[in-house]
Amino acid sequence: MMYQKPKGTRDLYGRDLMRIEKVCSSARSFFFTRGYQEIRTPVFEYADLFIRSIGETTDIVEKENYTFEINERRYMLRPEGTASVLRAIIENKISLPRRFLYIEPMFRKERPQKGRYREFIQIGIEHIGEIGPLYDAEMIEHGKRFLDGLGMEGVTIEVNSIGCPECRTEYKKVLSGFLEPHISELCADCLRRKERNFLRIFDCRNEQCQEVYDQAPKITDTLCRACTEHYEKVKHYLNAFSVIFRENKKLVRGLDYYTRTVFEFKAGNLGAQDTILAGGRYDILMKELGGPDTPALGWAMGVDRMMFTLPEGKPAIEAPEKFFLVVMGKTLFSRALDIRKVIHDHGYVCILGDHEESVKHQLKKANKLQANYTVIFGEDEARENACTIKDMQSGKQEKVLIHALDDFLAKKVRI
Ligand code: ATP
Ligand code: MG
Repeated sequence: MMYQKPKGTRDLYGRDLMRIEKVCSSARSFFFTRGYQEIRTPVFEYADLFIRSIGETTDIVEKENYTFEINERRYMLRPEGTASVLRAIIENKISLPRRFLYIEPMFRKERPQKGRYREFIQIGIEHIGEIGPLYDAEMIEHGKRFLDGLGMEGVTIEVNSIGCPECRTEYKKVLSGFLEPHISELCADCLRRKERNFLRIFDCRNEQCQEVYDQAPKITDTLCRACTEHYEKVKHYLNAFSVIFRENKKLVRGLDYYTRTVFEFKAGNLGAQDTILAGGRYDILMKELGGPDTPALGWAMGVDRMMFTLPEGKPAIEAPEKFFLVVMGKTLFSRALDIRKVIHDHGYVCILGDHEESVKHQLKKANKLQANYTVIFGEDEARENACTIKDMQSGKQEKVLIHALDDFLAKKVRI
């Protein structure tokens, strides 16, 4: 019996995992300096939390979620981060305003493709308790600067405003009126969405539908005064932050909780799955979840998808030098451990050879593990209180006194 990983999941290790980890640690330091604290919420929550926040008629809740039931309680594997962060703020009575960063796996039962998995990592930020359009722009700027810092090229930013619930009620009437004579041109999905989640029709990939929507009145034409003003200021601040963006009047989001500003970052070289970061404002969600009426905004970046778009060699991975310690015989074992400690203390990798194995066997292993150096501690070395360090690349070797090993390693010179 050969076991296989579930469809849409991956085993990450080696260089791939090191690159992902580097992106995550870069995010931690980048967002720390911008006032974000990390938060970690449970991998699963009561299903109601996500159904309520994401919306019953969204793809995630309708068909993409992993739900399970234990003792008549329904749980869902976390499909996104925002709902959990808000639940944690309300439950723990966390004071606001507050900025949170999360770096966590998400789970969605989607059709797997390149850049689309059933378990994937998101880096997300949430800024809770601020209404000012300055912060909408700043949040977009954070995303752009972070990606720039990673060495990402060719990213385009699209923004739109989808207004508040009042603007949307007004817009729904206008849009329905426009669509009436075009009903026969729309696909079945759009006809369904039109009734249940009308803004989502703009997400359709069908060309014929899109031709209709190109001609349709857009929500930005019916925004209320406050939403118009907010959107204008967001654009003003984006310019002030020197962020280049494009307005996309058809941009909507797949989750129900968004209000006003929405945005997406696209990478040109990804084909169909080209959105690497997406987010917006969600001023009504906190109240919807039973918390105080609190404006907020956030975005999430798909780390796995983004990895495809980073140029070769980015982010740079510095693997520390690797030493293999060859120990000859059990009488030398405890003294060899002192050598091992000095190497570890310098932050290098030191792999301990098994003194019960032959020297030949240990050296073979050093080769297999691609050690940069082998350190030999045999009878001769022990007598002289030294060890022999061999540079595996140049083949040169040098005897180093143990009390001088510290200095030798500090100089980090190749032999
Ligand atoms: P899409 O339209 O690609 O399905 P979405 O609107 O469902 O995206 P969000 O929920 O906004 O995406 O998630 C933010 C980001 O997380 C996306 O832009 C993408 O980079 C990433 N992402 C979403 N779903 C997946 C997935 N199944 N696999 C890998 N990354 C994903
Ligand atoms: Mg999706």
